[in-house]
Amino acid sequence: MAARMSALDSALHQLGAAVQQLGLDDGLHQLLATPRRSMTVAVPLRRDDGSMQVLQGYRVQHNLSRGPAKGGVRFHPRTDLDEIRALAMWMTWKCALIGIPYGGAKGGVAVDPRQLSPNELERVTRRYASEIMPIIGPEKDIPAPDVGTDAQTMAWMMDTFSAHKGYTVTGVVTGKPVSIGGSEGRGGATSRGVMYAAFSALHEAGVDHRGATVAVQGFGKVGGLAAQYLHDAGCNVVAVSDVRGGVHNPKGLNPAALLRSLGAGAESVVGTAGTDTITNEELVELDVDVLVPAALEGFIHEGNADRVRARFVVEGANGPTTPDGDAVLEDKGVVVVPDILANSGGVAVSYFEWVQDLQAYFWSEDEVNDRLKVLMERAYADVSALAHERGTSLRTAAQMIGVGRVAEAHRTRGLYP
Ligand code: NAD
Repeated sequence: MAARMSALDSALHQLGAAVQQLGLDDGLHQLLATPRRSMTVAVPLRRDDGSMQVLQGYRVQHNLSRGPAKGGVRFHPRTDLDEIRALAMWMTWKCALIGIPYGGAKGGVAVDPRQLSPNELERVTRRYASEIMPIIGPEKDIPAPDVGTDAQTMAWMMDTFSAHKGYTVTGVVTGKPVSIGGSEGRGGATSRGVMYAAFSALHEAGVDHRGATVAVQGFGKVGGLAAQYLHDAGCNVVAVSDVRGGVHNPKGLNPAALLRSLGAGAESVVGTAGTDTITNEELVELDVDVLVPAALEGFIHEGNADRVRARFVVEGANGPTTPDGDAVLEDKGVVVVPDILANSGGVAVSYFEWVQDLQAYFWSEDEVNDRLKVLMERAYADVSALAHERGTSLRTAAQMIGVGRVAEAHRTRGLYP
């Protein structure tokens, strides 16, 4: 079997399709394909036993033409510079697509956070934050949580940055705890956005979301709450999974109870009473209405796309479908709500958090959720209208809007010198 396409190759392939549709010239294509800054840092960690280990850290700012860079920080053993570059590029198109004034960035440390003690995790986070400090800040680049990081990680990053500055800088990261300048509604924002995106697609196709069957791959920050919100809104969530495997019950699962049991220390959803154990591969192929991939890149590919039976794929994760897999889904008539649209609720509310921090004036959760809904429904309508007009997939239309707005910013600003 041919090697699966990497995240960076996927991102560049998608950019190429948008560039072609938009008729952009080669120079601009090259500019949009090239990250503005890529930083690789050593992150030396003192382990609890006194030994030292040196980890690799990264921060990539893909594009700064529309505002400061914005994007998450990933702690994962297999992360590398190319993956971070791909994720940073997707952030650029995502911010432009939903109309918030940021460029795209991403960062990460190649480490398995589950192998570290809480004290070791704090030391890694603080050292990483201080190593990338020259290029981050509220006007420069604003990190947020991603795979393997959370609100506590952001609190440590904000504290480290502030300690170096000598005063509190809440706006340097988003996804912080509400007690130190975080926004109400940020914790569930990506998942809420996934729900809005799913409903937009279902309703556009004349399908009632109530009773629709759903499978969610990845039961982390995005997938866990997406499953819960979809369940609470009347969908029938029949399968969820994590890195250890999945659980299935055709009569429906109770995501809130699963989240409670993980919160109480369970290591996996696998083994939940009243469920059958399935693999992540089997979950992707379940006969459901909606499949929500919310784990990592490349889970739907040319090797399994023809066995996907869902009518709608709503991408909670970034890059879960390779271009080869995408082509197969498109041929089969599967509606794919692309990542840069479907999971943009997270960066949307990160933007709201940054605005609140800069103004030192905070909004209620209802205000946050209402504004998120407006933003996402507008973005879906824009994408759907363009897809119909040009006869493209939702992904190509979303990329065209995102890439087109960034290209426009470059043209308007001109090239220095
Ligand atoms: P997380 O670390 O909270 O959760 C990841 C989940 O995926 C966990 O349940 C984990 O067990 C599972 N997983 C990991 N490796 C797996 C594997 N090989 N097979 C199956 N499951 C696996 O991360 P998250 O923040 O929920 O992010 C998930 C995805 O959503 C990523 O692609 C991320 O970039 C994207 N995303 C996150 C946010 C956000 O606000 N956190 C916003 C937009 C997009």
